[in-house]
Order: sequence, then C-alpha cells, then structure tokens
Amino acid sequence: MGLMDIVQKVSGSAKVTCKKCSFETSEYDLVKNSYICPNCGFAYRLGARDRIHLICDKRSFTELCTGLTSKNFLEFPSYQEKLDKARTTTKEEDAVVCGTAKIGGKHCAVFVMDSKFMMASMGSVVGEKITRLFELATASKLPVVGFTASGGARMQEGIISLMQMAKVSGAVKNHSNEGLLYLTVLTDPTTGGVTASFAMQGDIILAEPKALVGFAGRRVVEQTTKSQLPDNFQSAEFLLEHGFVDAIVPRAELKDTIAQILTMHEN
Ligand SMILES: [Zn+2]
Repeated sequence: MGLMDIVQKVSGSAKVTCKKCSFETSEYDLVKNSYICPNCGFAYRLGARDRIHLICDKRSFTELCTGLTSKNFLEFPSYQEKLDKARTTTKEEDAVVCGTAKIGGKHCAVFVMDSKFMMASMGSVVGEKITRLFELATASKLPVVGFTASGGARMQEGIISLMQMAKVSGAVKNHSNEGLLYLTVLTDPTTGGVTASFAMQGDIILAEPKALVGFAGRRVVEQTTKSQLPDNFQSAEFLLEHGFVDAIVPRAELKDTIAQILTMHEN
C-alpha cells in the first residue's frame, strides 16, 4: 500500500515516525511535503505509484508494457516465494512501472523503478519493460524520463539478468540516434548493473539529495583498492563533485525542473 492510499483511508490523522530523527508527523503532512521529513529533511523511499503521483500531471499517466512476470527458470531456491511476496506487498508485477504521461504539460515516456519490489533488482522483466518503453518512445518520438533505483542485477536470474544491461543499452542508443532526449533521475539507492548501464546513460542526469549511487558496495571497493574512502563516497553529492551527475534537485523541485528540461529540448 502506498502512502497516498493510506492517507486517503485515514484522512490524515495517522502518525509516521521519521527513521532518521524520530520526528512524528501526520501522513497527510508528509505527503504534502513530498514525503520529506519536515524536521530533518530525510527523504522517504517512494513506491513507483507514489512517484508517478508526485511527478506526472494529474490523470495523465497511461501504463504500458504490462502483463510480464518473471519466471523462476533457473529454479533458484526460494526465488518464487520472494516474487510472490513482492507481488503481494507492492501489488506490482515486477520492479518497474512504465507508461506515457505529461509532466508540466509535456508529453513523455516514463519508467519508475520500485525499490519496494525485491530492492528493484533488474531481472528479465525489468529489462524487457524498459526496452519496450524505449522502442515505443523512439517510434513515437517521445523523450524518456526514468527514475532509477536498484540493488543491482537480480542474481536469481543469473546471466539473463546481466544481459538486460546490453539489451536496454541498445534500445537507449537507438532512441538517442533519433535525437531524442533521455533524462534520468537517480534515486536512493541506485547501484550495480543499473548504475553500470541505463542509469548513467541519460543525456541529462539528475539525482535526489543524499541518494546512494554506486556500482560495487563500499566495503568491496575499500578491500579491492586498499584505500580509505571519504565519508560521502557514493553519495549524489560526491558524484556531482566528480562530474557523474549534472544536478542535485530536491524532491519538491523535481517536477518543475523536469518540465523545464523537457520544454528546453522540445523538437
Ligand atoms: Zn526526520
């Protein structure tokens, strides 16, 4: 259940306690504040539907590329149970939601990864849905706005999950060859194979403040390079300093910023 559903049900009276500072706020106020803690600025992780609600113009989102579900083709132990559980708790088919929408009146294709579905790991369905969206956007000459979040490739699908990196990248390149805009927004956390492919292939790359963005985990990098890493390593701010990100945009300003970029790149 998304925060919006809860809010509609409880008419704003229920309380939410901030994970970071323990500040208590009503769910209604939290939604009004773009799911940001009004006390410490902690950004709550958003489900795909909540993100769409926050960014896309009212009633403009049309979902596409549905009807695809992952199969446990390697018979990986307990994968089926994990899929079933994720489907039940999120009510999503898999870890990405795709469609077309308007943002600030500008028509675009949108994909939103949902970290609440198996940490938005990228398996065959995630790769296929995003590929199909890019193909559709290329054919209809639409820009693509993608919200990335991921724990990386879905290990339960083995090599098939890694192949998604190349498949999506191919579709991104065909879209780019048509001179169309691809804008990515890196949200917390964007890691592994998703970072190593389509998250970083945007023509313009935005990030949410303090989002964790990286490839391998901090400990692995430290052990491999035998070096002490700075405290803000793999944060959006660190990536901005090192040229991997074009701008860090607070959540409350994201919609207007995206609309502005879409307007600038029209035609
Ligand atoms: Zn807080």
